[in-house]
Amino acid sequence: MSKTIFEHSIPGRKGVTLPPRELDTQLKDIIPSEFLRNEPARLPEVSELDAMRHYIGLSRKNHFIEKGLYPLGSCTMKYNPKIHEKLAAKSCFSQLHPYQHELTLQGSLEVLYELQKDLAEISGMAQVTLQPVAGAQGEFTGIKIIDAYHKAKGNLHKTKIVVPDSAHGTNPATCALVGYDVVELRSDERGRCDIEHLRSIVDENTAGFMLTNPNTLGLFEDQLEEIARIIHDVDGLIYMDGANLNAIMGIVQPGKVGFDIIHFNLHKTFSTPHGGGGPGAGPVGVVEKLLPFLPVPMVAKDEDRYFLDYSHADTSIGKVHSFYGNFAVLLRAHIYIKMLGPEGVRRVAENAVINANYLMALLKDHYHIQHLEYCMHEFVADSLWQKKEYGVNTLDIAKRLLDKGFHAPTVYFPLIVPEAMMIEPTETESKQSIEAFADAMIEIAQECLENPELLKEAPLTTPVRRVDDVRAVKFLDVSHPFEGAQDK
Ligand SMILES: *Cc1c(COP(=O)(O)O)cnc(C)c1O
Repeated sequence: MSKTIFEHSIPGRKGVTLPPRELDTQLKDIIPSEFLRNEPARLPEVSELDAMRHYIGLSRKNHFIEKGLYPLGSCTMKYNPKIHEKLAAKSCFSQLHPYQHELTLQGSLEVLYELQKDLAEISGMAQVTLQPVAGAQGEFTGIKIIDAYHKAKGNLHKTKIVVPDSAHGTNPATCALVGYDVVELRSDERGRCDIEHLRSIVDENTAGFMLTNPNTLGLFEDQLEEIARIIHDVDGLIYMDGANLNAIMGIVQPGKVGFDIIHFNLHKTFSTPHGGGGPGAGPVGVVEKLLPFLPVPMVAKDEDRYFLDYSHADTSIGKVHSFYGNFAVLLRAHIYIKMLGPEGVRRVAENAVINANYLMALLKDHYHIQHLEYCMHEFVADSLWQKKEYGVNTLDIAKRLLDKGFHAPTVYFPLIVPEAMMIEPTETESKQSIEAFADAMIEIAQECLENPELLKEAPLTTPVRRVDDVRAVKFLDVSHPFEGAQDK
């Protein structure tokens, strides 16, 4: 169990030396007495080395891509090149203030302008807003745009949006948040949209359709043309959840094959940090007819000057975030795209797909795979064989992987595959590290046969053992996350 930084504290020990005071004024002369603390602040008294050891110690208890492979399906936990950090830390970017005059921000506006253009090119869309700060917020922006489009056309009878049963939970949640009824579409036996079912649920009241492509089974939705015809015939719009763009960028332009709107997850596909849940970026691209509804401002160029364009403010859905979104995140994505170039962007997708197929081939004799065909950038295996034979389930396997130095795959998602393990190695892993992960998975399959009890106990080597999920839900206490973690 970790000590807190306060428990390292020794009275009088110091890690900093403050510069001499330049003013004679006392704080109590400036700050009204009701805002002043009467007692000294309780701060840990530690040396710089104590503090470093404490935080490095904590970080080592965590898992991160620099420590080991992170095959969290759909989340695209690729390695983020450190040059992004180096450039983003430069004072010309890090010292900016969002209220600075446009004319003093020309370089940064150029970065945003170029990123808008590059993402539009990659997605085949007419224009891209960079404002949303997560994929989920991109979805919200996109569905608000669908809503604005229908309202502008007087399509007031449109009340529902179709979402496949393989979709990420944010999709139906977004539709509900904007006020639409969600109609669930079945997947067929090939793991794709069931077209007959789609025909039967789409009607005049359908406002749109949200589709992830490749879908969360790691399979390409190959009936796009037919889907687009069905939805567009009732004046519906097709939204692409672009979380899995890593598989197709540089190869397929969604805006050219029937999609009207797309969101990007820059923290997945474009190598910006996932952070601890943020800050991220979820830009949204749209086709020509939806341009009037994009959030304001857009970054535009006028001869040789970049500026913030509010010209469509009357029809816009408004702002979805302060200023321009998460600038430092957008900057990293810009560096990534420019360094790769068009060829490199395509190679990312090709290698992501090849790596996933190689890993699937290594595992297919050891784990059941419901849709065994060439996959895109990820595939969904499951633990049906292990469960049936040895009573070991996906949670046990995921926990055991932690003992072997790997992050677990995404588990129990998509919901349509029982005991799912959604595995995405990404393009940044080498053949050797993919093989090492496969070896660990195969070892676990062997352990299921030899010692299934061990798997029920896993993880054995991590700082926190298996948490009691039920207890965690019933007695939520986020301020003492380690207490009781090992209780049964
Ligand atoms: C990650 C993900 C989202 C949500 O994106 P966030 O950036 O986490 O908000 C939506 N759909 C799919 C398929 C995803 O994988």
